[in-house]
This record gives sequence, C-alpha cells and structure tokens, in this order.
Amino acid sequence: MARLNKADRETVRAMFGGRCAYCGAELAERWHVDHVEPSLRKLEIIKTDRGTQWRAGATTRPDRDVLTNYMPACPPCNIDKHAMSLENWRGKLARTIQVLTNNSPTFRHAVRFGMLHVLEAPVVFYFERCVAPRAPSKDEASVQA
Ligand SMILES: [Zn+2]
Repeated sequence: MARLNKADRETVRAMFGGRCAYCGAELAERWHVDHVEPSLRKLEIIKTDRGTQWRAGATTRPDRDVLTNYMPACPPCNIDKHAMSLENWRGKLARTIQVLTNNSPTFRHAVRFGMLHVLEAPVVFYFERCVAPRAPSKDEASVQA
C-alpha cells in the first residue's frame, strides 16, 4: 500500500466511528487499513551477511490502493482476512463452527456440557449492520398492523 498520509488514515479510521469495519471492536492505538479487494505484495528476497531474508515489495494491484477500497480493521480481522475477498472470508468464517466441531475435542466438550451454545447465524459484518434499516414498504406496514 502506498503510505497513507495522516489525514487519509484518520478518514479511514473514522469510517465506522473508530470501530473495526468487520467485527465492530473499538480500534486500539494499533489498527490496520484493510484492502476490501485484496492487494498482494511481491516478495523481495534479500541476501545479507546474516542470510537470506525477504521483505514486502511493490503491490500487485496499485489500482486497489485507493480510499474507496480501504476499511478500518482490527489486527485480528485484517490478519484473518489476509488476501481473501470479502465473500471468501465470509465463507471461511461461516465454516468456523464446523471446523471447531471436527477438529477440537475441547470445543465439543464445551458444547456437550452446556458451556457453549452454538447459534446458527449468518456472518454479518459490522459495516453491514451500520447501514440504516430501510423503512417498511406500505404493504409490509399493513401486514404488521
Ligand atoms: Zn475486527
């Protein structure tokens, strides 16, 4: 990512009231600017006297380095989303309970002993919940009356 200036970074931070666009956690001092449409970096291999190292090089998609493609994210969300599209990440998150059920005896014990209740709920990102609810149409309003 091209380095954001302080004003642009503050614009991104304020997009959802200082909260992570994905989980809604309040952003701490250290937070990330996520690319909604991912932008990868080429790896640069560097040979030094201490051995071979790598560092992040130029972006593969400079067209995605724009304010309209940025979201404020807490580090855990940004790291978990990594280079996935939003819908691919949503799908991964939606499989979390199945993955835990398959792979974690501790999780299964917690469910079996009533320490955890699993909800069947769709993955809805915080920024999607921030959209103002639409007013009911005339037909919906009459059904509710
Ligand atoms: Zn988050």
